[in-house]
Amino acid sequence: MTVAPSTSFDAATASTAYRSALEVIGAVEPRVAAAISQELTDQRESLKLIASENYASPAVLLTMGNWFSDKYAEGTVGHRFYAGCQNVDTVEALAAEHARELFGAPYAYVQPHSGIDANLVAFWAVLAQRVEAPALAAAGVRHVNDLTDADWATLRRALGDQRMLGMSLDAGGHLTHGFRPNISGKMFEQSSYGTDPATGLLDYDAVRARAREFKPLILMAGYSAYPRRVNFATMREIADEVGATLVVDMAHFAGLVAGKVLTGDFDPVPHAHVVTSTSHKSLRGPRGGFVLAQPEFADAVDRGCPMVLGGPLPHVMAAKAVAFAEARRPEFAGYAQQVADNAQSLAEGLTGRGARLVTGGTDNHLVLVDVTGFGLTGRQAESALLDAGIVTNRNAIPADPNGAWYTSGIRLGTPALTSRGFGAAEFDRTAELIVDVLSGATPTATRDGGVSQAKYVLADGLAERTRAATAELLAAHPLYPGLDLA
Ligand code: PLP
Repeated sequence: MTVAPSTSFDAATASTAYRSALEVIGAVEPRVAAAISQELTDQRESLKLIASENYASPAVLLTMGNWFSDKYAEGTVGHRFYAGCQNVDTVEALAAEHARELFGAPYAYVQPHSGIDANLVAFWAVLAQRVEAPALAAAGVRHVNDLTDADWATLRRALGDQRMLGMSLDAGGHLTHGFRPNISGKMFEQSSYGTDPATGLLDYDAVRARAREFKPLILMAGYSAYPRRVNFATMREIADEVGATLVVDMAHFAGLVAGKVLTGDFDPVPHAHVVTSTSHKSLRGPRGGFVLAQPEFADAVDRGCPMVLGGPLPHVMAAKAVAFAEARRPEFAGYAQQVADNAQSLAEGLTGRGARLVTGGTDNHLVLVDVTGFGLTGRQAESALLDAGIVTNRNAIPADPNGAWYTSGIRLGTPALTSRGFGAAEFDRTAELIVDVLSGATPTATRDGGVSQAKYVLADGLAERTRAATAELLAAHPLYPGLDLA
């Protein structure tokens, strides 16, 4: 298979860099240095199927540990509220340029600290552009400070009186798409679209019908746990029909967009008014977020800090520049395709051994297993797999009978293990191990004669056998091969 960039680095040089860094850190607080070393050991020994996690390259990681961290840089490139930002300007401009080139976007904003922050920037930008700007124009002023108190009160009410339509949580949507535990659910009146109960697939006619009825300001697309492609051309048509702004959150699948696995109607960038993302999931960059936008939203997005963001993190923006540069290399497209191919192998390996998948399969980087066929809740499945050395997370499935806490599913993703060099055969073996563990887990009885939703027993020796098998797989595909901290 194609060598993934995170595994192609000079191991001797990286080892020297990390050993020296740990020596410097250990001289101040040895327990922190020890925890950093232990984290590498733990990650090396873990069969990580968390769909939102990955392994960034040593170049990306090292870029974050330096004096850029000390700089305040509120404002934008060339327009800072602090002096001495010339080098921050260099790295922020580079990160934005790489992001524009990588995704073919007219405009990129790389300051958001995370995916949640990127969404908040986008939501305020849409409110600013679609609600605030017309109100200022109608009042004949340029700035909110110049509004009369009465006009300001009217504008505040209008800003709070807007609607968002997003994918429901149990269909795979994200909390930040207008749900009450997130501020977006308090900013907007929210309504959801789900998936077809028979197929588990997005039903665009149902989305259209709901959008016509609800007339949202923002039509939100994107997901955390939907294992299929979304047709963003159709979503844009729906948005246009009802006068909504299409915001796509590609946090999960940005790597597949960057690597040209998702193209045409399935690439959100040419279709959405605004695209938000994380940089650390399938894109394999530093923890962080970014926003891509059509030109009419650029000025409003640029005001993200201090509107809703704390001061930019220049060391992380520098690492985004490095990660985006890596993602522009041809090897990254090979990696992204392998992520998708591996998800196919995992899905086929699971269904071939009797597991039921939501939607029956996948065409992105993740698989959602309905574990009720094994007589388990998602919580039991997650814990049983962890006992056996396989790291996953439980997840609700559409119309989940066990609710959002226990759930009925587990979500599995391929980006991290693909970064370690896993291919189709390793993912088929992983599927075999997962089905073995789920088949060998039995819920315990409760005192009142019912069945526990949390407790279970594993067949004798199953955890140990599976741990030995996962250790073998991991040893054949070491994480950061040759990186030696000793
Ligand atoms: N958007 C989606 C679709 C996500 O899946 C997530 C994270 O799980 C986020 C946003 C939030 O990202 P972050 O944890 O970086 O704030």
